[in-house]
Amino acid sequence: MNEEFKDLQSIQNLKGVGPKGESSLNNLGIFSISDAAFHLPFRYEDRSYITPITDASYQTPVLIEGEIMKSTVVFRGRRMLFSEIYDGTGKLTMRMFNFAMAQHKALEKGKMIRCYGTITPGPNGKQMIHPQYQVFEKEDSIEIEKNLTPIYPTTSGLQQNKLKKIIENSLEYCDKNNLLKEESEKKEYSKYGNLLETLKFLHKPPVETNLIELIEGKHPAQQVLIKEELVAHMLCAGILKNELEGRTGPSMTEISLREDDFLESLPFDLTNAQNKVWKEISGDLLDKIPMRRLLQGDVGSGKTLVGALAALHAQSNDYQTAILCPTEILAEQHLTSFSNWFEDLGINVMLLTGSAKAKERKQIVEHLAKGTIDILIGTHAIFQEGIEFKNLGLTIIDEQHRFGVHQRFSMLEKGGKENQSPHQLIMTATPIPRTLAMTVYGSLETSIIDELPPGRNPVQTSSRPDSYREKVIKRVEEVCLTGKRAYWVCTLIEDSDELEAQSAEELYKEISTALPKLKVGLVHGRLKKDQKDSVIEKFRKGDIQLLVCTTVIEVGVDVPEATLMIIENPERLGLSQLHQLRGRVGRKANTDSHCLLLYKEPLSGLAEERIKTMEATTDGFQIAEKDLELRGAGDIYGIRQSGLMDLKIANPIRDSNLLLDAQEEALELGKNDKDFAKTLVERWIGNRVDYSDS
Ligand code: ADP
Ligand code: MG
Repeated sequence: MNEEFKDLQSIQNLKGVGPKGESSLNNLGIFSISDAAFHLPFRYEDRSYITPITDASYQTPVLIEGEIMKSTVVFRGRRMLFSEIYDGTGKLTMRMFNFAMAQHKALEKGKMIRCYGTITPGPNGKQMIHPQYQVFEKEDSIEIEKNLTPIYPTTSGLQQNKLKKIIENSLEYCDKNNLLKEESEKKEYSKYGNLLETLKFLHKPPVETNLIELIEGKHPAQQVLIKEELVAHMLCAGILKNELEGRTGPSMTEISLREDDFLESLPFDLTNAQNKVWKEISGDLLDKIPMRRLLQGDVGSGKTLVGALAALHAQSNDYQTAILCPTEILAEQHLTSFSNWFEDLGINVMLLTGSAKAKERKQIVEHLAKGTIDILIGTHAIFQEGIEFKNLGLTIIDEQHRFGVHQRFSMLEKGGKENQSPHQLIMTATPIPRTLAMTVYGSLETSIIDELPPGRNPVQTSSRPDSYREKVIKRVEEVCLTGKRAYWVCTLIEDSDELEAQSAEELYKEISTALPKLKVGLVHGRLKKDQKDSVIEKFRKGDIQLLVCTTVIEVGVDVPEATLMIIENPERLGLSQLHQLRGRVGRKANTDSHCLLLYKEPLSGLAEERIKTMEATTDGFQIAEKDLELRGAGDIYGIRQSGLMDLKIANPIRDSNLLLDAQEEALELGKNDKDFAKTLVERWIGNRVDYSDS
């Protein structure tokens, strides 16, 4: 696609899209007009016929229509609006808790109303709570939907109807400009004519379409697209790339005695699990096939050390290692560990982050090219142009879920020699189901560290509502005065009306005042790097006893003396994030640690489940399973938010039956139809920057 055409296709040029709309659409991952065509409904409703009230059953949503008999506002503890509706067959009460007076006024006796919602049994018979409704005059008739009604995932500031209209416009635009019209028998679009028709079908399925199939993602029109998307992701995956291009990996056959020296120098022995995974990894490194290995291990299981062993091995074979971290804090933490470990071994470890000064950066660039840097630890800055390695043999990606397809990809591009691809080790504390891994990577070996270093006691977790706040503050004081250290985690930096979360800054003020005997520190993502560093350093040394912080500490901060953590507004966080955070405590051998979840009432059912799970277990694998279960297999957007990958329609858990087929097809396309392979990648993955770094 040429550049000019791309500009033309920018979503801002679509009818009905203003600057504000554009930014909301961008938030949904919609940048081009055809992106909008690919923004598919996540569910459908059948509003194609009116059900007589008397026939309407409970629990399944229905469309009903009738006359408003009366509307009243009553106070029963809280304000409520009741409207009585009669349709000649039966009576229904519409009940609302949140409403404007104007709404009350509009629901006038004698007018007609059409409601869509679920009927439940109420005190006066059938009722609908907060249905969607339309009021109209008796003499007017309003049309009934002729298709199933699509419901789209949307974002604040972009109403469902507006989004629907934009998508309709995008389909029209594609039609007029002959976009997305390729027909390919192979692609099974033929049933619908072409790709565009397939999309149109899914945006507006005829009423007779099997709704259950649609909801479960099993409709043939969906399956065609799902498979295509999976194929596109697999085409991007490292291992296929190796296979397709016949790349080899740097073979690191030299086994250095320094490995033993290094292990000797540690104050502890490797755990059995660390030994086991190191065998697996070192086996790969000896081989000529580029390693693509996922190293899973719960927080605190000692993944970093295993990564260090791999980097040492690479260095012994004259290869450089790049270590990619999602945050500066984590990168610095690793720099400290690696520098300590490798101090006496003559290995040169350097740090490159976004805050590097021009001069520093220049030096790093020089030394990298000369090969005098053995290990480069850094953040996204490593992806920048001009960062070239002399002989990159290994990339280690830490806490992988924060990085997207493109970055993993571009690290492979940074490979040392032509036709060679560096080994890649991906370390994560978030267990990734096999099926997901397969989609992200095409295929991937997995190593698991399934034990913690000895003496680690599970973190005891409990929860309290916000009303316990004062007691909690007192308790924190007691604990810290005995010489222990504590984190107090907030989910926002500044007060925001919208989010109501306790802000770290406010809290810092509050706590500092309430606890004059303690030294309290504050760290959040908006601090300058040196400020951040100095606060964390003080906390490490014990000059600060209580650290008020945001989720910036989620990954990597390693202060074993910290044994208490308070998490404010835990209801805002997903299970894996809570688990990550909690992993900052419980790091000291033979010491009890505690985590308190200080939540805001009322809790939603889901939030309550998450909190209960946190109280019940510290096992990362169990937590990950529960997480997927709570998200529900159909929750593609949940998976998307988890940052694992950016999928439009496929759900590798739900669609696991298509994975093998998709893999075969990806290989086939990659070999025999490179043009189409490219089209698919551009279509489904495009040029989106898909990392989520907070
Ligand atoms: P994670 O797997 O979460 O990245 P780290 O690598 O940060 O865990 O390790 C957590 C802590 O455990 C570090 O302080 C590390 O030095 C220590 N550690 C690693 N391996 C062992 C071991 N075999 N015995 C004792 N402590 C260990
Ligand atoms: Mg780690």
